[in-house]
Amino acid sequence: MPNTSLLELVRSHSEEFIALRRDIHHHPELSFKEKRTSDLVAEKLGNWGYQVERGLGGTGLVGQLKRGEGGKSLGIRADMDALPIQENTGLKYSSCHSGVMHACGHDGHTAMLLGAARVIADRAQFSGTLNLIFQPAEEFGRIDSGATRMMNDGLFEKYPCDAIFAMHNMPGIPQGRLVFRKGPMMAASDKVIITLDGKGGHGAAPHKAVDPVVAAASLVMALQTVVSRNVDPIEAAVVTVGVLQAGSANNVIPQSARLELTVRTFLPDVRELVERRITEISHAQAQSFGVTAQVDYQRGYAALVNAPAETDFAREVAVELVGTERVVPEGIPLAGSEDFAFMLEKRPGCYLLIGNGDGSGPNGCMVHNPGFDFNDENVPIGAAYWTLLAERFLAA
Ligand code: ZN
Repeated sequence: MPNTSLLELVRSHSEEFIALRRDIHHHPELSFKEKRTSDLVAEKLGNWGYQVERGLGGTGLVGQLKRGEGGKSLGIRADMDALPIQENTGLKYSSCHSGVMHACGHDGHTAMLLGAARVIADRAQFSGTLNLIFQPAEEFGRIDSGATRMMNDGLFEKYPCDAIFAMHNMPGIPQGRLVFRKGPMMAASDKVIITLDGKGGHGAAPHKAVDPVVAAASLVMALQTVVSRNVDPIEAAVVTVGVLQAGSANNVIPQSARLELTVRTFLPDVRELVERRITEISHAQAQSFGVTAQVDYQRGYAALVNAPAETDFAREVAVELVGTERVVPEGIPLAGSEDFAFMLEKRPGCYLLIGNGDGSGPNGCMVHNPGFDFNDENVPIGAAYWTLLAERFLAA
């Protein structure tokens, strides 16, 4: 039986939180520049009785609420940043900043958690410590993103959390559907830059040059064997050569060639293997063509791994709130990446998806697309979900 009374209660606040979501959407801010958003969140949390600490990871902040004698502590995280994309939704609340857009729905994630903050503070049906984590720069794409910088500023030392949770919207899944997965759910994301150095020369005299273009072409093909021949066929990995650059004139053999790759893996062993094979193949291929290879392997976001017990718990809360027919108990893993993975390396927890809707409108449009919009119907569902999760985790 869905917990309709809580949903109804939260829906009675819907107008306020949907307006807030649209306000944040209208004023998007890039990674580590979430000044206005951070001000807004701090003001709201302060008004509702949260103890607020700002300046964790730059624009990040934590709102803490303690009730009763309970010793348990819970962390719920929302991301706040937008993307360098020119919005073309044509919505009346679309971005007021040229070239900046909430194209990943972090406006909605922030509004859902703020909605929960308000309802939880009103109801006060818990005992323990609630830490609401508003994180900057999820989209930063490098290891020192918002999650890392908040942790470097002492997030979990100052605000110990027995478990942590976060939610992301997902277009293409029916609106409001809650999707869970135990273990690896999103991929580790690494970047590799390979530079091949040969000897430039005249295009008519290849025998007097060492051609890095032919070596690069061969290397692109050889790299395809890492996934097809080295990785266990039961495991998943992606090796994509997204950049291949060399030369600038048809009759000149260039001095060097450059490849840039993205690598996605779900397991530490597979990540090690892929890194090793890319490095070995690059050097061996280079040697066979008489060029030299420089391999710069840059590890990015870790794989996002949900803890078993916390995933069971988060799933039970979802079933209680919306009923089994709106819960996907074991979704498929995604090759995208997410810096909440770094927090999950330090604390057990669960990251879940909420369906943003399907179809051809802005809600079904994929994230990171100029036509995307967060589904406002999810604001009360997300807020009710976090409210119930907090009340169950910190049961009085
Ligand atoms: Zn996102």
